[in-house]
Amino acid sequence: MKMKAAVMTAVSKPLEVREVELDPPKSDEVLVKILATAVCHSDLNVLNDPTTPIPQVLGHEGAGEVVQVGSNVKTCKVGDKVVLSWDPACGTCAFCRTGKTNLCESAFGPMFGGTLMDGTSRLHMDGKPAYHMSLLSTFAEYTVVPEMSCVKVPDEMPMVPACMIGCGVATGFGAAVRAAKVTPGSSVAVFGLGGVGTNAIQGAKIAGASIIIACDIKDDNLEQAKKYGATHIINTLKVDDVPAAIKELTEGLGVDFAIDCTGNTKVGRMAWMSGRKGSTTVVIGAYPEDGELTIPAGSFHRVGKILKGSFYGDINPFNDFPIIAQMYLDGKYDLDSLVIEKIPLEDINKAFDAFGDPNANNMGRYIISFE
Ligand SMILES: [Zn+2]
Ligand SMILES: [Zn+2]
Repeated sequence: MKMKAAVMTAVSKPLEVREVELDPPKSDEVLVKILATAVCHSDLNVLNDPTTPIPQVLGHEGAGEVVQVGSNVKTCKVGDKVVLSWDPACGTCAFCRTGKTNLCESAFGPMFGGTLMDGTSRLHMDGKPAYHMSLLSTFAEYTVVPEMSCVKVPDEMPMVPACMIGCGVATGFGAAVRAAKVTPGSSVAVFGLGGVGTNAIQGAKIAGASIIIACDIKDDNLEQAKKYGATHIINTLKVDDVPAAIKELTEGLGVDFAIDCTGNTKVGRMAWMSGRKGSTTVVIGAYPEDGELTIPAGSFHRVGKILKGSFYGDINPFNDFPIIAQMYLDGKYDLDSLVIEKIPLEDINKAFDAFGDPNANNMGRYIISFE
């Protein structure tokens, strides 16, 4: 079928809205009509990456309706409303077999190779193959994705808030609830208030934390963090000793849980230093490949602290996407205020331009709505 899609045709250049040909789904794949898709900073990272295979249809935060399923597909059917996951699990590798589906080995090759799971593409442009982004390519009217990327959500779930669940929302929520395992009455510090950090705060609140300390370098973000559940805010640029400031707020002990969403190893150290004895520090942001995270070795064995990296917030999409959707429907999870603006596909570069503006809102999302 022919459809409109926003295509990356050159590194760091604006996307082009073009006519693209989409093949039907193979036996383990699903054709989804995209109803809403959000623009994430990771889309910009892919656009600026010279190793990205092009032409590529970008986009990895999407929700829509199933319109056709392959012959082996069992977990969704035509008409289902689905939220897409960019980290499908194969179900058979060593990680999937032990329940660590977020660490599945099988998706990584295709994810970076620009194909679906079988190493081939369903996309064509100007008679030549085009590439998929993170197996999803949601900046398009339709997409073909692996069955394991299609997570059914309640029919009454509106698609604009739904489309954000699959990336920053689930990752942040998972960082607090699944990876850190925040407990009722505990204290939590969240470093970095982008799309992930905001949702780590919401997750900590839902898990019942009584002290939630939001840490960021932008006063605007810190103010907004209060509406998601932050009880205290610290501008880390304006405080000399952040761990000491956090200890002051927590009976001189430090927090039970620290979550670093920044991708900055200096902040990672700060998060670790802010934790009390027996605390858990979760690193959810991507540190530079050649970076080094240093923490003091003295007393390490005596403090019983845990330092944990987490990919995709340790979530299982089939478990956690419907939970988040239901919390939204019950009025317990705020997705609506994460929407910066709804724009048509033709205006998609406006969302990319906003990433370059230091004063732009980086806590929410521009949404392309096809509804
Ligand atoms: Zn994303
Ligand atoms: Zn696997």
